[in-house]
Amino acid sequence: MSRYTLVIHGGAGTILKEDMTPELEAAYLEGLEAALAAGYAVLEEGGVAVNAVKAALVVLEDNLLFNAGRGAVFTKKGVQEMDAAIMDGSNLHAGSVAGVRNVRNPIELATEVMRNSNHVFLSGKGANDFAIKQGIKLEPDEYFFSQFRYDQWKALRDSDNYSLDHTHQKLEELMRDKKFGTVGAVACDQDGNIAAATSTGGMTNKKYGRIGDSPLIGAGTYANNRTCAISCTGHGEPFIRAVAAHDVSCLMEYKGLTLEQAMQVVVNEKLVALEGEGGMIGVDAQGNPAMVLNCAGMYRGYRSSDGTTQVSIYR
Ligand code: ASP
Repeated sequence: MSRYTLVIHGGAGTILKEDMTPELEAAYLEGLEAALAAGYAVLEEGGVAVNAVKAALVVLEDNLLFNAGRGAVFTKKGVQEMDAAIMDGSNLHAGSVAGVRNVRNPIELATEVMRNSNHVFLSGKGANDFAIKQGIKLEPDEYFFSQFRYDQWKALRDSDNYSLDHTHQKLEELMRDKKFGTVGAVACDQDGNIAAATSTGGMTNKKYGRIGDSPLIGAGTYANNRTCAISCTGHGEPFIRAVAAHDVSCLMEYKGLTLEQAMQVVVNEKLVALEGEGGMIGVDAQGNPAMVLNCAGMYRGYRSSDGTTQVSIYR
């Protein structure tokens, strides 16, 4: 049995201690702990990495605080369109969905695409039709509604501005700062198989069917047993241009860097050069975790079978 590990994130950005109330901070930490517990239980019982990352993400998607599933941000048109991806590093199978609506857990739908379709990536209405055919749970618009996301959107809807997720700041601060949302998980199971998953509502006031890095295999999500599993969060456009998650894998495979070294190069050099604010979590096939960010904070945590565990928010 090898060391098994689960790492999760709940988004990165301008998350500052001085903007946080003790209650909100406790609620975030509790949300992260609950997701860690759900995913880690799968690993502990001998389950596969891909099921562990899915279990962790379902908990985060169901939590109103995070920008994924319930609590997703609003588009320019005032609706919620969600993106998600999952990848199994043991066989390089992957499933993604983009711009889906009313799907309770977009990560369940992405997993269904991976397991029970002949495709990797489905979008919009077609993805929703597939969800209905496969019996994936749907919810009415009200289920996804949250007052603070709605207020966040109201402040932007008459402008051409868009915003990455913010969670707790005042609206005037929202206009000034960039915030990020999104949830993700990576895991290494008892057999040394690794997997990655990411789910998001994207950016507040997004339009024209904008899709970020999260559901793009190689950009926001990637897993390969030979190297690492990665889930990103941050300003999606630079992460796409940097092919960020796959680049970490390439640096490990072709240059022999460790997971931590490769993530440092991509997050703190390559993404910084593209003004790509955010962070990523990773795990390698030996169960080593890593969490790297180039902004003020990232909701994040990990638990490993060697007894180490950590949950943190600020840089
Ligand atoms: N990367 C996501 C996107 O651009 C947003 C985020 O991580 O907050 O859609």
